[in-house]
Amino acid sequence: MEQPLFIGAEIFRHSSYGRWHPLRVPRVSTVMDLSRALGWLPKEQFITAPRAKPKALEVWHTPDYVAALQRVEATQHRTDEDLRRHDIGSVTNPVYPEIYRRPATAAGGSLLAGELLREGGVIYNPPGGTHHGMPDRANGFCYLNDPVLAMLSLRRNGVRRIAYVDIDAHHCDGVAVGFHGDPDCLMISVHEERLWPRTGVLEDDAGGSALNLPVPRGLNDSEMAFICEALIVPQVAAFRPDAVVLLCGADGVEEDPLAHLSLSNNAHWAVVEALMSMAPRLLVLGGGGYNPWSVGRLWTGVWATLNGHVIPEWLPAEAEAVLRALRWENTRRGRNPPDHWFTTLRDAQRVGPVRDAIKDRVHLLTHGSVGRFGQSQRSMG
Ligand SMILES: [Zn+2]
Repeated sequence: MEQPLFIGAEIFRHSSYGRWHPLRVPRVSTVMDLSRALGWLPKEQFITAPRAKPKALEVWHTPDYVAALQRVEATQHRTDEDLRRHDIGSVTNPVYPEIYRRPATAAGGSLLAGELLREGGVIYNPPGGTHHGMPDRANGFCYLNDPVLAMLSLRRNGVRRIAYVDIDAHHCDGVAVGFHGDPDCLMISVHEERLWPRTGVLEDDAGGSALNLPVPRGLNDSEMAFICEALIVPQVAAFRPDAVVLLCGADGVEEDPLAHLSLSNNAHWAVVEALMSMAPRLLVLGGGGYNPWSVGRLWTGVWATLNGHVIPEWLPAEAEAVLRALRWENTRRGRNPPDHWFTTLRDAQRVGPVRDAIKDRVHLLTHGSVGRFGQSQRSMG
């Protein structure tokens, strides 16, 4: 594979979880439209995500649960049993028109990515990144867990050692369940402390397979750069992975309505850049991100980074028009968007001091007694 591939689909364009749900905003379609407006998405780099077959999902999800999702999509009605057993139809995980097809398309892209990466390469699947999904229930807006399915697909295609890096503002609780104790998987998650789902505490090493770094509110670009240099890059390098999977959720930026971190999109792009040469295979997934302008701009910049495109200081008119056409309803934040959300891709940097809490936690993870990685480093002196 010579050039990076982009996996997308039209199903995401008009799909909404409901008019008050954070996932009422377009995201993947914005990335596709912006990338095309910038001339960055020629036909030969684009693949339409196939919808995963139920059997393909059942390598991790239970047949009962997959069947329930299909039935609820067909009837647009959930039973009390669906809610009790699978959390289908809760406020968080509502019944909506594409409740099966949409997650099955994100999963189909991730399963396909695992096959296409057999011989190596770079793939971007921004519809993917549903890292909270559980084997038999919906969780945190995620009905399926496409990162787990991607990693299992990589394994079926001959890839053994996988480094999974997750910089979404929330902890990847579903992925941690999927790869708990797996000796050939290293999961590194950087997430806001005490934010839902409140898992992934510093001491939790997922059976020796994870490094969890909860970070305080207000995380800035300098702190993320420190985390990347002192934790992510050396740990991934020491692990010598056959594949890197990066979950690049966009909810860590200052303007996101759900989390309380203060990153700019530069921080995410720097992590992408740092991971690009660390394994013969790289899969980048989307994830959270609930400000329609922030997520569209950030994820388009991820694609630019993967391709080495120079991000222009000012967007051309056609790209600006994509951003000006977005609406963010039912929130005061959507009423008067600042002009740079329309006219630029790159945020201003949000630098600041690297707080001691972050230095101490990174030190504990890399030199202390947390997990097998810390121990092996210590024994090496
Ligand atoms: Zn998130």
